[in-house]
Amino acid sequence: MARVALVTGGSRGIGAAISKALKAAGYAVAANYAGNDDAANAFKAETGIPVYKWNVADYEECKAGAAQVEADLGPIDIVVANAGITRDAPFHKMTPEQWRQVIDTNLTGVFNTVHPVWPGMRERKFGRVVVISSVNGQKGQFAQVNYAATKAGDIGIVRSLAQEGARAGITANAVCPGYIATEMVMAVPEKVRESIIAQIPAGRLGEPEEIARCVAFLVSDDAGFINGSTISANGAQFFG
Ligand code: NDP
Repeated sequence: MARVALVTGGSRGIGAAISKALKAAGYAVAANYAGNDDAANAFKAETGIPVYKWNVADYEECKAGAAQVEADLGPIDIVVANAGITRDAPFHKMTPEQWRQVIDTNLTGVFNTVHPVWPGMRERKFGRVVVISSVNGQKGQFAQVNYAATKAGDIGIVRSLAQEGARAGITANAVCPGYIATEMVMAVPEKVRESIIAQIPAGRLGEPEEIARCVAFLVSDDAGFINGSTISANGAQFFG
């Protein structure tokens, strides 16, 4: 039977590319999303991948969502914690609400996503956890104190999970994308985007598929000894 993979935020952007790459590699994929039904339904129609709506910031929703995926597809062997948001502002203007929203979604959301499926992975002596971090978690970024804190936190999460899961056949790794051409980045004003591209030695944004291929490798049997690592995919923007 095909291994089951859950991808949070798997209906758009990088997550959609990951969902498609894992389906192409033979996994039974479930794509979670937050609330953009139109995008999720279009994705489902295009790919045939089932979509599941829940908020990763809510532990009970994550638990119920994972249980539903398992009832539909079978035990979850692979979890890709990809869902994420930005609420950018310079620190002196950042509101507690902007801080909280990003922490709740990007950091607590990873706990909420992995925690319900972890016991099953331990029991079955196999699991793959991949967290989508960011170059800005490695180097920090102007106006992203909240976001950078969560993405640096992701790296601490996988390094700790790696130590806890290794004996149980579970690996946990992070992928740190540089700037990737998704709606999140295309929403940045064009002038800012041009200045970002000017700082990337590759001279271009990355493609979602370039991140998806890293994930497909990390969840494969071939990557069984890679545990607690961080793969940087950023066009030589930063060496972390
Ligand atoms: P997009 O904004 O294009 O897509 C975000 C996805 O996450 C959507 O499917 C969205 O669902 C889902 N999502 C957002 N909030 C929640 C939530 N609370 N619960 C469940 N799902 C949620 O993002 P990207 O593809 O650009 O980013 C994906 C990940 O990659 C993020 O973690 C981001 O931080 C990281 N990243 C992105 C980079 C980039 O350059 N784009 C660079 C480095 C890291 P819905 O469609 O319903 O809104």
